[in-house]
Amino acid sequence: MYVQVVLSKVSPQTDKEYTYKIPAESTSRAAVGIQVLIPFGRAKAVGYITAISKEAPAGVERLKEILEIRTRVPLFSRRSVETAKWISFYYCCLFGSALRLFLPPGIEAYEKTAGKRRIEFPISPSTGLGASNFPLDRDRGKQFPIPKEQTKKDAGKPVLLFNAGLSERTGTYIKEAQKTLSENRGVILLLPEIGHDNRFVEEFKKNFGDIVAVIHSNMTEKERFCEWERLYLGKAKIAIGTRSAIFAPVHYPGLIIVEDENEFTYKSEQTPKYHVRDTALFMAEKLSARLILSSSSPSVESFFRAQNGKYFFSEKDQIVNDSKPEILVVDTKEERSRQLSSVLKEEIARSLDEQKPVMLIQNRRGYAPFLVCGACGNAIECPNCSLSLTYHSPDGTIRCHRCGFLSEKKIVCPKCFSHSINYFGAGTQKIESEIGKLFPKVRTIRIDRDNLSSKKNASIALEAFVKDEAQVLIGTQMVLKALPKKKFGLVAVISADAALNSPDFRAAESAFDFLFRITAGDNNAIPPDRVVIQTLNPQHYAVTSAVEGDYKKFYATEIMSRKDFGYPPFSFLINVILSGKDREAVRQEALQICSQLKAFDRTIEILGPVKAPLEKLRGMVRYQMLIKGQDLAIIKSKLKEMVAVLSKNRQIRLSVDVDPVNLG
Ligand SMILES: [Zn+2]
Ligand SMILES: [Zn+2]
Repeated sequence: MYVQVVLSKVSPQTDKEYTYKIPAESTSRAAVGIQVLIPFGRAKAVGYITAISKEAPAGVERLKEILEIRTRVPLFSRRSVETAKWISFYYCCLFGSALRLFLPPGIEAYEKTAGKRRIEFPISPSTGLGASNFPLDRDRGKQFPIPKEQTKKDAGKPVLLFNAGLSERTGTYIKEAQKTLSENRGVILLLPEIGHDNRFVEEFKKNFGDIVAVIHSNMTEKERFCEWERLYLGKAKIAIGTRSAIFAPVHYPGLIIVEDENEFTYKSEQTPKYHVRDTALFMAEKLSARLILSSSSPSVESFFRAQNGKYFFSEKDQIVNDSKPEILVVDTKEERSRQLSSVLKEEIARSLDEQKPVMLIQNRRGYAPFLVCGACGNAIECPNCSLSLTYHSPDGTIRCHRCGFLSEKKIVCPKCFSHSINYFGAGTQKIESEIGKLFPKVRTIRIDRDNLSSKKNASIALEAFVKDEAQVLIGTQMVLKALPKKKFGLVAVISADAALNSPDFRAAESAFDFLFRITAGDNNAIPPDRVVIQTLNPQHYAVTSAVEGDYKKFYATEIMSRKDFGYPPFSFLINVILSGKDREAVRQEALQICSQLKAFDRTIEILGPVKAPLEKLRGMVRYQMLIKGQDLAIIKSKLKEMVAVLSKNRQIRLSVDVDPVNLG
């Protein structure tokens, strides 16, 4: 018997399946997903079996034998191998790193015990599980019945659930999950994030009890392993979680739900840079599982696919909401203070008079986000990144929000060595101190990443606000989560301009989504009495359509602009970033790669190479190329080769981001 093995240690040079022989006495214990110890070169290595065959592959002679079978049960299924291969191909990353997404939490520690003392990986063997009766591979390929509201033509298509309110969605998800469980299949519910009092988790636990497993990044490794094991052993049949829950060992998933499908957090920013929605699309098709994507402001790509019949479009009538907030857009061009306009000050005073709490949103933390030399006018940037430093009060520190650079001393202008540094702009801390000056008797609470310790999440702090007597809540976008809980007299956006002006083709989409959440909100949230939006661009269509609460109007303008510029969904994009310490070397390499790629596939368009929007990051100079095309399959294989070649050159790093959501 022969097996294909992928090394546990991932590197571009060894990212392939190696063939080994299984010693006769071990054949009954070999299976896809089993961890093995193999001879590799002159050393030993840990790997995972990804395929098994009776015949030796043609042309291969004198195969080495596996040294040891290291787990009693397989850790992933054949289906996981298929998905990992797709992720590796589609997102241009290493197969080995894609496969690791499926491994149980804590596996690294066990891999390190290879060749040392023998311990058993802690999946309880008492259940009688063995390689031969692995639960994850049972019942493959059964057809999923056609849901009632879908016609035959739409059978099996993913569903885009548009405009459904929170309680309506919860009801739909539970009903669909019941149906799926009755067919003896599992359920995966993906959420952009999970606080300690998530409505979906509560409702699912109420309806399904112990068979619900919850997985998110605020859990310890041990907690995550326990939930992983319960799913693996079939004790839990429903996985609810953030991004990584898509890889949880749910038995034969029949239903995958992606709540708020347009959330950018669904795209991993670390390699493998996969998108949960698109991975779910692939898996649902392979499994003949039902896929529900839900949002009230869907991604432009998803709405486009629904409009073109790729998805089944299920639109809910928006409930006519009499309690919709009154919305005021303030053009800050004519205001003396761009942070707190006279209209905003009046509105704050009015709400406080009415004894109703106020929420102020500013998407910059710290006190002053811009530092400028008073002597020569030089903008003071982080020494490692091309990004303005932020002044923080009350400790008087100066920090970089990207690399964590921290200066406790007075900063000196690097150009003229002057000590007179002026602070500009307003972060959340400055807004808080301004409110303190204007309304000295008012209690405020500030919620941003600076005053939330890592363990304590935003929802716990918000809970305190809801119970507390504080009247003004100030924070970054994360404070929006307080909306469903409390009746606010006023919610104000201090400036919508940073979102509108970001140099990214998705700027309008993310600005609309942000404003839409505040103005239209979720149907179940208690809407505030009034909303104030301050901006220098009051006529921008993202602002006007958000004020009207009209997604389709926004989409109509946005899709035309995407078409004009040939951006997704009219093309596919790959963002390639080269970085290194030596600017000229990086630039030369970028030019060379660009011309090689152009010669390799003449159907693609390459924008750049240019300096990346974030030109310097953590001391590395960065150049960017944006590859645009209708079919990028060929170019992806070429890029993968280039990554492997460049990985030998330690001076320059090549990073590839397929379907980027952030072009920085
Ligand atoms: Zn200066
Ligand atoms: Zn920095």
